[in-house]
Amino acid sequence: MLQVAIIGAGFSGLACAGQLRRHGHRAVLFDKGRGPGGRASSRREGDESLDLGAQYFSVRDAAFAAEVDRWEAAGVATPWPPSSYRVDASGAWHEEGDDQHRYCGTPRMSAITRHLAAPHELFAATRVTRLTDRLDGWWLEDPQGDSYGPFDRVVVTAPAAQAEPLLRPHDEALAKACREIRMLPCWSAWVRFDTALTLEGIDADWPVVRFDQGPLRLAVRQNRKPGREHQSETLSLLAQDEWSQRHLEDDAEDVASRLTAALQKALATRLPTGSSLPQITASGAHRWRYATADLTLAAPDHRLGEDGLALAGDGLRGGRIEDAWLSGVHVAEALHRTATDA
Ligand SMILES: Cc1cc2nc3c(=O)[nH]c(=O)nc-3n(C[C@H](O)[C@H](O)[C@H](O)COP(=O)(O)OP(=O)(O)OC[C@H]3O[C@@H](n4cnc5c(N)ncnc54)[C@H](O)[C@@H]3O)c2cc1C
Repeated sequence: MLQVAIIGAGFSGLACAGQLRRHGHRAVLFDKGRGPGGRASSRREGDESLDLGAQYFSVRDAAFAAEVDRWEAAGVATPWPPSSYRVDASGAWHEEGDDQHRYCGTPRMSAITRHLAAPHELFAATRVTRLTDRLDGWWLEDPQGDSYGPFDRVVVTAPAAQAEPLLRPHDEALAKACREIRMLPCWSAWVRFDTALTLEGIDADWPVVRFDQGPLRLAVRQNRKPGREHQSETLSLLAQDEWSQRHLEDDAEDVASRLTAALQKALATRLPTGSSLPQITASGAHRWRYATADLTLAAPDHRLGEDGLALAGDGLRGGRIEDAWLSGVHVAEALHRTATDA
């Protein structure tokens, strides 16, 4: 039985922990966040919640599809959105549909990661700042100087830029792999209105609209997600990559008001004649410095180092939740093989 430390309790770390556990190994998760979820985390206010990072996810791989079926059976994932709109550069609206299966967490994205984390040991609010290789195995240190160990293996699933400094002192090949992954930032704002946002000529239940042009990339209606129909009208507003990059160091409040202004402009032709957006009752923005993997590595979707270190995460595969989950499962399988081959 291996003792494995996993840095990061996002989809890849949790998938890795689950697969290791299935093979009888002990996996212990560490995350600097207050809970599991990583880039699929949600914000809660009273009984209302909104997704700050990933809004929903697509399913292509058969093994991932089987896993999502289990999440659906557990009541933490539901097919969504049923359709979406796209606004092209000329401002014309198009209703879009395809045969791609998409899901969101119920009643919030973090419900899935909490469900996955439940059986595991998790040290939340624990930032790992250093790894040390001692005679009895690997030890992890946090900023308070507390140490955790010993572990036979350490899997790092943090976004590449955060994984690199942990790996560099011990494994140059893994650190180099991290430097080859390019992550793009994303500003994710949200705005709450006092009444429903009705748009002329558009279904009253419209769930999602993508924009081909402008600061905004995507607007998602949180109160149209399954299990959140009771919530007030709240939209998450995701900025385009290039805009996020240019405004990365801006103040969050300023970003929220700029993206709300961009929404008003983008919806102008659909707002009831002469009217503006409903009254705003709350707004905010979250800066994701490492949101999506733009440049990923060639296969395999994980790396094993020389001395028991390993690297996994969406950046090694493709930048989506499915990629993160598959990378986590595959690194666990590879670690299991090292134990059984020994
Ligand atoms: C705004 C946004 C929109 C997105 N939209 C979509 C979408 O529509 N569809 C889709 O499929 N995907 C989407 N994604 C991408 C998706 O969220 C990611 O692919 C997936 O969540 C990555 O999972 P992961 O486990 O690899 O990494 P993460 O979720 O980033 O998990 C890594 C974890 O490591 C932790 N960590 C980092 N450093 C340390 C440290 N030193 N010590 C301890 N813990 C540490 C972090 O706190 C984090 O929880 C989106 C992401 C963002 C940000």
